Amino acid sequence: MSEIVNADIRKILDSRGNETVEVDIYTKYGFGRASAPSGASKGENEVKDYPQGGINESLRIFKQEVAPKIIGFDASDQINFDALLEEIDGTGNFSRIGGNLAVAISIAAAKASSDEFGIPLYRYLGGLNYAIPAPLGNVIGGGVHAVNGTTIQEFLISTHSKDVYEAILTNAKIHKTIKDKLSKNLNTPLGMGDEKAWVVPLKDEEVFELLSGVVQQFRDLTGLEIDFGIDLAASNFYKNGKYHYKDKTLTREEQIDFVISLIKEYGLKYVEDPMEENDFEGYAAITKEVGDRAYIVGDDIYTTNKDLLQKGLSLLSTNAILLKPNQVGTVSRLIRTWKLAKENGLGTIVSHRSGETNDEFIAHLAVGLSTDYIKTGTVGGERIAKLNELVRIQGEIGGIR
Ligand code: PEP
Ligand code: MG
Repeated sequence: MSEIVNADIRKILDSRGNETVEVDIYTKYGFGRASAPSGASKGENEVKDYPQGGINESLRIFKQEVAPKIIGFDASDQINFDALLEEIDGTGNFSRIGGNLAVAISIAAAKASSDEFGIPLYRYLGGLNYAIPAPLGNVIGGGVHAVNGTTIQEFLISTHSKDVYEAILTNAKIHKTIKDKLSKNLNTPLGMGDEKAWVVPLKDEEVFELLSGVVQQFRDLTGLEIDFGIDLAASNFYKNGKYHYKDKTLTREEQIDFVISLIKEYGLKYVEDPMEENDFEGYAAITKEVGDRAYIVGDDIYTTNKDLLQKGLSLLSTNAILLKPNQVGTVSRLIRTWKLAKENGLGTIVSHRSGETNDEFIAHLAVGLSTDYIKTGTVGGERIAKLNELVRIQGEIGGIR
């Protein structure tokens, strides 16, 4: 039993300078603090960050309705605690209290309870099953995370090493090398996107050429397995039935063929949201053709929602799923979706949002759920907060995946 004795809330800023909520929960002998991130490239079916009255309405509801009801509640009873949040909200999708408020409270309760029991958070979440995931990060980006970048939202890399520090450092070195190449060799104007990926006014194809060269250079240099992948976030450039790239427009069938050809040509191991999020059959066509070569990952198509994943499973849409706590609003909702994915043999990835805080929770979540990857950037304070926490966790576990 970890009885909640006090709870507090405040506004803080996220990495984009937007207001977000931070919640503190005190149990008799424990303390948990959690803050909510926020996406820019959101799926249609995500819970909404805030209710109509905005963040201040969430704060009011917390103080007047939530805090009095959670005091006295057992924070270690996460399923019923999260059910209580749903009951207080009363809408089924947190549109009255706000998804960001719900997720911060839910995570703060898990943290307070693990602290009360003196159990590391990853172990509290994972029980006996925990493992360090491979860090996956965006090194060149565009889409809605940047101005004048590539059409494809994220060009991703992931180094696999038994030593997570080596993996994280290699990813960061790749990020740095790309800057050197872009600034010296190509003489291209260079910016940085929301997730600290480089933003360049190049065509997507030019980035594939550049990045596959750098990835190969690091494979040769380190002898490590390094995955190359992308998050197309295709809903963002799908309009009037077509996919609009900077330099071309593709029909649905052409988009399917294009993605398949990229996977084959560049040996991509990770491809997220290759089609607009309602085209479950389009995802399935890609998975059928190249699902044995790469993870075809559902983010916007599922929004961590168990019912949408169930639909994707019945249509064989993807072979992997992205999991973001604030897409569904509670830890236990996310774990229910993760469980369904695991039962059906899907790959799993815990992910940050493009607008982040220094909250390190998702590092513990990814370890506790033994996901294949954690997608949380390669550099930048709010991304490094999670990556450095992985290093600490590995030091504590001692054993290596
Ligand atoms: C994503 O699309 O995977 C992502 C992390 O971006 P956002 O947080 O903007 O949804
Ligand atoms: Mg995505």
